[in-house]
This record gives sequence, structure tokens and C-alpha cells, in this order.
Amino acid sequence: MYGFMGKILVVDLGRKDFKILEKDEPFYRKYMGGALLGAALYEELISGYESVDALGPENPIVFATGPMAGANVCGATRVNVLSMAPESTGIYLSQAGGEFGPAIKRAGFDALVITGLSDIPVVLDINNDDVRFVEAGDLWGMDRVEARQQMIADMGDDYCIASIGPAGENRIRYANIMFEPEHYAGRGGLGAVLGAKSVKAVAVRGDQEIKFKDPGAVTSVNRKGGSGFSESIKKNPRSFLGVLRHLGTYGLLEMNRKSGNLPTRNFKFGCPEDAVDLTHYRHETAKEEIVGRITPCKNCFVACKKSSKINPGHSSLAEYESIAILGPNIGLEEDLETCLAACELCNRLGLDTISTGNMIAWLMNCFESGALDQEKEGYCIRFGDGQKALALIKNIAFRENDLGNLLADGIKRAMGKLGPQTKPYSRFVNGVGMPAHMPRKKPGIGFAYLHGPNPNDHMKQEHDWIASDPGSLKFFNLSVCSTPDALDEAKIDVAKATQIYFAAMDSLSLCMFIFSPGNIYSFDEITDMVNAATGFQLSFEELMEIGERTIQLQRKLYLDLGGKDGAFLPFLEEEISSGPSRGAKISRSDFNHARKYYYKVMGWDENGWPESSTLERLGIMPL
Ligand code: SF4
Repeated sequence: MYGFMGKILVVDLGRKDFKILEKDEPFYRKYMGGALLGAALYEELISGYESVDALGPENPIVFATGPMAGANVCGATRVNVLSMAPESTGIYLSQAGGEFGPAIKRAGFDALVITGLSDIPVVLDINNDDVRFVEAGDLWGMDRVEARQQMIADMGDDYCIASIGPAGENRIRYANIMFEPEHYAGRGGLGAVLGAKSVKAVAVRGDQEIKFKDPGAVTSVNRKGGSGFSESIKKNPRSFLGVLRHLGTYGLLEMNRKSGNLPTRNFKFGCPEDAVDLTHYRHETAKEEIVGRITPCKNCFVACKKSSKINPGHSSLAEYESIAILGPNIGLEEDLETCLAACELCNRLGLDTISTGNMIAWLMNCFESGALDQEKEGYCIRFGDGQKALALIKNIAFRENDLGNLLADGIKRAMGKLGPQTKPYSRFVNGVGMPAHMPRKKPGIGFAYLHGPNPNDHMKQEHDWIASDPGSLKFFNLSVCSTPDALDEAKIDVAKATQIYFAAMDSLSLCMFIFSPGNIYSFDEITDMVNAATGFQLSFEELMEIGERTIQLQRKLYLDLGGKDGAFLPFLEEEISSGPSRGAKISRSDFNHARKYYYKVMGWDENGWPESSTLERLGIMPL
């Protein structure tokens, strides 16, 4: 086989043992890699269990890579992590860049699955097919930067490392997983799954050759993409890709602020420039004072990752999502220094910046609105209280006091304890905090936030702009057109097509900054690269079928394990009263109609469960 190693490593922490599953070509033709391979392995490994507890031994966690990982391809290094999410129930898929994906392949595997629970904290040392369970010792309790430094000193720097921080160890329901120093699988609380298994870190190295059918052809398409990219950003340095290259995702702060998409004060409105000093978001300031050198994933010419000029001691310059949610969304729009300190603290302690920021914004909003009373609670935090936010992040990660302990267990329990009057201020869907794109400004994305298998994920379909761009839609053979502020059937048709496309790219474990429709490669070029890597003769339509299989299998697992679509959030129908997104809203009747139509076009019944005929068509066992 080409592009695949043909083996899956399954580690059993309870028995301190492992086995290697051998898979054949028909298996890979059907399940490819990344998101789909992860879902298929997850399904295989939970068969026989009547129910799955996210923090129990029966819940496997899968790290899956893709067929182009290890080739000279920009954006092919991603790793997909899939497990049952600790708060929401139902599976969640999270992704990260870095070299961990290719390292799994160099060790001889397409995926690594961790099952069971260890009785003591361990580091999994995977050196080719030699697997050791090393006592974590003092590493347990260290923040992730310190832990990584210690591990490199002990094991050498040719290992790629995934690790958790104290938040994962303490099973905070929105703990994340860090890969090497700068990459995070942030969403869904999968760090708590590793924490429950007592796995501080997974270190992987290997020397296996990764064979591709026609590496020259792969390189040649990649090179063409690189030249096209360089020309395009020279011509238009202010384009989305130009901004990513020159300023990283930090540059998206200014772009989203201008378009009214930068959430402020718990998604109340888009950040208004006239009321506050936002010089630090301007591209000129960012270039001169904030954004440092590039620190890209290997082979990436877009290089969205940057170091920081203003706080070089930090792990890296925080990403757009983190800065937005721990900045303007908690009232720190003018205080970049505290915002970046909050991002760094979350990154070191192992908390998802988005869900943590949402939790703080919810609490602030509750006190501001009077839903919570300072006298009764003996505590108060308001928008802009940066120092209190920093203290709260530590309290949560270490479960330090009653409030920290309560928030550590997720929004559902927090609302249950603090009262139903706090519910309207929650921006969580199924326990996952809302990303930094205004759902009322982008109703297609807002709609997607409320639907599984990955609720509150902004990277599972193209954003609303594409629905009114006939040039891009023609690639999907779509002649429908919608408007940016509409939630109509056309928007749902576009959402379905781009969801399937994004899922196909996730099953190849590719970076969506590079592989979003029309960004760098044409659909034919992507298909050519996959075929040159694997030796398959797939058409683009067959790649899309893999995307559809990914969504339907994940949807089946999500619902089967207790996941649900989110109820309409009342704040969505309140018209935004000021700022650059003034007037934006989603009507409840549009939403209800869109949900009905969405279920129908996805091949689901009126309750959102995949029809048997849908699953059978894609070769998935019916429910
Ligand atoms: S665009 Fe960014 S995240 Fe994607 S591969 Fe390049 S450096 Fe990594």
C-alpha cells in the first residue's frame, strides 16, 4: 500500500499492553484517514458496550493521521483526535497541526488508539513498535511547557509529544491536548479524557519509511500551489491568505472587527471601534509591534503560526479565536496585555481558550444583568475585570475553590447550581463554548453551531460569504445563491455541500486554511495529489462520498452516545442594537424551517437520526 502504513496501534492502559491491528486496502479505500478513520476505529472499539462513560475505561481516544502525512505537502500534517466528549456526551472531533501526525506514521501506524485506564500517571513512550508505560512521576502536575522541556531533556528531541496540563489531570470538562509547543486540539474537552486515563503525555518517534506511489507528482502539485500562493499574496497582500501569511490569525482581529464579526461582551455585538482604542488590532501596529517570526507546521508556505514580539516568553502568539474570546468577549478589548496573559495561562494549564472564555463571559454577563447577585454569591466579576479573569482561570484549572470547582465541571452543572435565570446568557452548545464568529452576523455558521456531530465548531463548513459567490459555488455544481444575512434553503444547500467537502478534507487530515474551497488548490489538484500519494484512482465525487461517509458515521455515533442538536438560543432572535453588526438576527421561524430542511437534505428523519437508507448507501451499519 502507498500513503498508508496498514497498521493501527491499540494501547491498553489497564493491562499495560498493546496490540497492532492490520488493515487492508479495501479498509483504507472506505475509511481513508483522519476524521473518518478515527470514527470507524472508535465504532469498532466500543462495540459490545451498552453505554460509554467519557471518563471511563471503555471510552477509547483515537489519534488519526492521513494518507498525505509525511509527504512534501503544505498543510498535510494535521492529526485528528476523536473520543467521547466529557460534558456533552456524544463524540467530538478535535484537530491540531504540528508533527505528531507524521510521527505516528514514521512509527509505522495510521492511527493510535488509547483504551482503558492506568492505575498510575504515565507517559506513553512509543518508539516504532516498542511501547513503554513510563511512570510520569514529577511530570504530573507540571504545566505543559515545563513538562515538555523535562521530557525532551529525558528522552531526546526526536520525539513528537502530545500532553495535557493540570486542567486535563483535574478532568476539567474543557481541558485540551497540546502537541509540541504550539499546537492544540482544543475543543470538546478531550484533555480530560486523557487525564481520566492518567496519561500525562504520549511521546512518539519512528524510523519507518512512508511510501507514496508517485512522490514526484505529489511534490509537483504542491510546488504549483506554492507558486500560485506567492503570486496571489503579492498581488493582494490584504486577502485572507495574505493576512494569514503576513500577520497570522492575529490579522483576522482587524478583518473581523470591520465586518462586525468580532464578538464583544458575550456576543452582544460586534466590537465597535469608535468607543474604544483598538490601535493594537490594526494591521500596521500588528506588523510593527506584535507579530513576530513565522513558526509554521512543516512544509507549510502559508505559515499562519507566529511568535510574539511583545511577549516572547509566551509559547507563541495567541490565535484569533483565543484573543477574541478572552479579549473583547470578556470586555478586554483595550487591554491586550491581560488578554494575552489569559491566553497563555490557558495554554500552559491546558484549558480550551474558547470554552474558558465563554464560561467567564457567561458569569460576567450574569452579574452585569442582575441574574446573579454579588451579595448572595459573595463574589462578583464584570466585563473588563481582567485580574479576576486570570484568577478564575487558575481556580478552574486547579479546582481551587467552590466557584473554580463548579465551573470546572462545565456549564450544565454551573447553571444547575446557580439557577435557571443564568441560562439565557450561556453561549454553550452541548457543553462546548461558542467560537469567535458572530452567529447572528453569519447565520449559516450560527445554524451549524447548533448541530452535531461537532456543535459550536466554526471549522466544519465554509462561512456564509460563499453562499453569495456564484464563482465558488459552481465548483460544487450549485446554482443556488443566498445572501450573507439569510438563513434560507439555499444557505442550507450550500452548508450541506461545504460540510461534506470539509469532512472529506478532515478525512485526509488536511489543514482547512490551505484546503478550503478555492484557497490554493483546485478540486482536481487535490484529487491528483491524493491519487499520486495512494495509487488510488479516485474521482473528486468519490472523495466527496468519503466526506459524506465521515459526517454520517460521526452523526450516528454522536446521537447513539447521547449527543443532541442544540435548542434555539433566544439571544439569536434579538436584533443587535449597535456597532458594525447592527440589525443582525436569526428569526426563530427561519431557524425551525432551516432545521427541518437540513434534516431532509442530509437524509435524516424528522428527529435528525440518519435514515437506514442513508447509512446503507454509504456502507455504514444502520442504527
Ligand atoms: S496554515 Fe497554519 S495551521 Fe495550517 S498547516 Fe500552515 S502553519 Fe499549520
